[in-house]
Formats: sequence, C-alpha cells, structure tokens
Amino acid sequence: MINADEALRLILDATPTLGKEKVLLLNSLGRTMAADLVANESLPPFDNSSMDGYAIISSDVSRASPGRPCELEVIGESRAGKVFASSVGSGQAVRVMTGGKMPLGADTVVPVESVNLQNKARIILVHPLPAGKHVRRVGEDIMRQEVVARAGDLIEPALMGVLAALGHTKVLVFKKPRVNILATGDELVKVNERPLKGQIRNSNSVALAGYVHQSGGEPHLLGIVPDRENLIRKAIEKSPRAHILLISGGVSVGDYDLVEGVLQQLGVKFVFQSVNIRPGKPIVFGRWGNMLVFGLPGNPVSTSVTFLQFVRPALRKMSGRRTTPPLRFPALMEEEITKRDGKRYFVRGVARQVGGKFHVRTTGSQNSGTMSSMVKANCLIIVPEVITSIRPGDQVEIEML
Ligand code: AMP
Ligand code: MG
Repeated sequence: MINADEALRLILDATPTLGKEKVLLLNSLGRTMAADLVANESLPPFDNSSMDGYAIISSDVSRASPGRPCELEVIGESRAGKVFASSVGSGQAVRVMTGGKMPLGADTVVPVESVNLQNKARIILVHPLPAGKHVRRVGEDIMRQEVVARAGDLIEPALMGVLAALGHTKVLVFKKPRVNILATGDELVKVNERPLKGQIRNSNSVALAGYVHQSGGEPHLLGIVPDRENLIRKAIEKSPRAHILLISGGVSVGDYDLVEGVLQQLGVKFVFQSVNIRPGKPIVFGRWGNMLVFGLPGNPVSTSVTFLQFVRPALRKMSGRRTTPPLRFPALMEEEITKRDGKRYFVRGVARQVGGKFHVRTTGSQNSGTMSSMVKANCLIIVPEVITSIRPGDQVEIEML
C-alpha cells in the first residue's frame, strides 16, 4: 500500500492546471493570478505630503533655531485632489494636507504641530528640516515596470486594492475547478428530511461543498444515491461536466461498498485504491477521461481529512496556485498516543502557543465518526508510520487547519 506522500505525488502528477479567464476585479477575491502583473504606472503617481503641514524649501530654514526663528509667508494651499497652481519661492510656504500634491519648488513638509502660526499668512519655524521630510515620492510604493504580482499568487483584498490603484477593473485569473459531489448510502436522507430509524442526514455533501469553496473550487451537489450499482452508475453518467468528481461513502470493504466496482465498470483508470493512513485508508483515486475521481470514505472525519490531504492540493494546482506543501510546525505533545498498525495518523489536535512554542493536545476521541472533533480541532497532529508511541513532552509535527 502506498503512503500519503506517494499518493499526493500521484494525484498532483495527474492534475492539470486549468485555462485562464478575465473576471471583474470586484469578483476576483480568492482567485489566482494567471499572469505576472507589471505596473503600468507609478504609485504614488506624484510627490505628495504624508502630513498635514506646510510645504517649504528646506534651505530656507537650515539655520532656524529658537534663538533665530525663521518666518515664512503662506501663499496658498494644496490639498488632496486640489493642486496649488503656482510654485513656492524662497521665504514662502504652502499649506498642504495629507495626500496633497507637493507644490513646485518645495522639497519638504513641516508638520502643522511643529510651526508657530503667527497668523494665517505667516508661520514661524525654530528648527531646521532636511529635504524630503514627510514627502511621499513618486513610485515610492510601486515603480512603473515593477512586478506587482506573479502568476500563481492568491488574490487577497490588499492585492485587489493595488490593482484598483493601478486602474485595473478586470484581472486575468485561472478558471475555477468545477467539482461534482455525490453521496452514496442507503442510510442517507436530505438535510431537510427527518431521518427514520437507522437513517442519518447527508452531512458530507455539505461539508465537502464548504471545503471545495474554501479551496477555490465551485461545488455542484449531485445529491444522494442508495447503495445500488445501477443507480450509482446512472448518477455518475448523467452528472454535468466537471473537473473533479467527489464520491463519499461506499469505498470500504463492506458488502454494500459498491463505488469501486461501478468506477471499474465505467472505465475509470485507477491510480490507487487505498493509502496507508488513518483515518481515510480506503480512499480511491482515478481518472475518468479528463475528470479526476476521488472516492472518499464516508465517515465524516475520514472525508474531511482525506479532502484536506489529497483533494485540496489538487484543487489548488488546478486553479493555478503554486503547490507548496502545507506548512508543518514542531509542537510539544502533552498527551500519549500509541499505535501498532504502521499507518500515518492524522490526529485532530488543539494547539496553543506557550512562550515561543506550540503545545498540542488531541481533541479527545479519535473515532472517525466524531464530527465534532474536526470542529474543535485547530490542527492535525501527524504521526509517522514508524512511530509506535508518543509520550507527553515528545516533539510532534502539526499542520494548522
Ligand atoms: P461508508 O464509507 O459508506 O462505509 O460509510 C462509513 C460511515 O460514514 C457510516 O457510518 C455512514 O453512515 C457514514 N456516512 C456515509 N456517507 C455519509 C454522508 N454523506 N454523510 C454523513 N455520514 C455518512
Ligand atoms: Mg456506505
């Protein structure tokens, strides 16, 4: 049986990156840049004041001191959006507001709190000021021709702001992967139905839809199919086009675990049919034409863990994100874990920072049916295959959720 690293490598090898499309900048949050973006202008576009004060010529006040105050004549004002039309000469000052364009001739700004105002027309300075003080220079933020964002960058609000400042109303991004989600199981009813004896609500489809959204994909719910080969098959055959098909349930070795058989009949090319992990060992992965097919075990925790470990990286690659392995941090374990089965464990944990270090506990019961453990957890504790026992005080690796 392959391990989690090999499984992920096989998945990423089989995963293409999708094409590109232009979207409105306002709708681009969470999308991925599909091209480098070179600034077509400089920001700020003109020298401007970073303070409310007076624009002056620094050499005018180079000898100012409390014993030798220097008096300047205020000849006008420049505020954000309203430019002072003339220029500043020796002995003169122009009132400037934050963001106001530097008047021609002036090279420095004295903040309003540092001047003695004689009257509206005259100010007195008692200290010198170097040239360029409180002046935001053209291109200080972004220089024309500078690369502002690279293909593969996630679009976050701050980048949206930069693109807007540069005048972009649209942005080239990678297409969003469409993900079909199918739940299998005779016991499942819709979320808005009342479960009868032995039935449970189909919670996996909803959780998976959330995970897909969060990972940059577009979920499409195919609903529930009972554990009947022909019905599972029909549901898959008539499903709308998608880049990925997620099937939950029916992939273990029970008498009613029929998904693999159906996928076989449909001609899915299996890449692997289990991974040496816990929870989530029966995960199945294959390709059906251009579509990637994941059979995820139905236990809600297994569904979540296998999604996060295997489906999310695929979605990221599809949507153009640079695939970097998830960041893992060392943490001090506060509890004991023992295992004998040689599997890699993904244990739901709660990490907190103590001094400069992470300390981590488990969420309690690690039964793969305990959905609440995934809610309580803020990390997964990764216990390698070869480890048989972890004692309080041992170092472990955690992956933040
Ligand atoms: P299975 O993988 O089909 O053997 O299912 C394993 C466990 O997960 C069983 O207890 C199922 O009832 C449960 N389960 C399967 N599918 C879902 C689902 N869509 N929502 C919630 N629980 C599920
Ligand atoms: Mg089942």
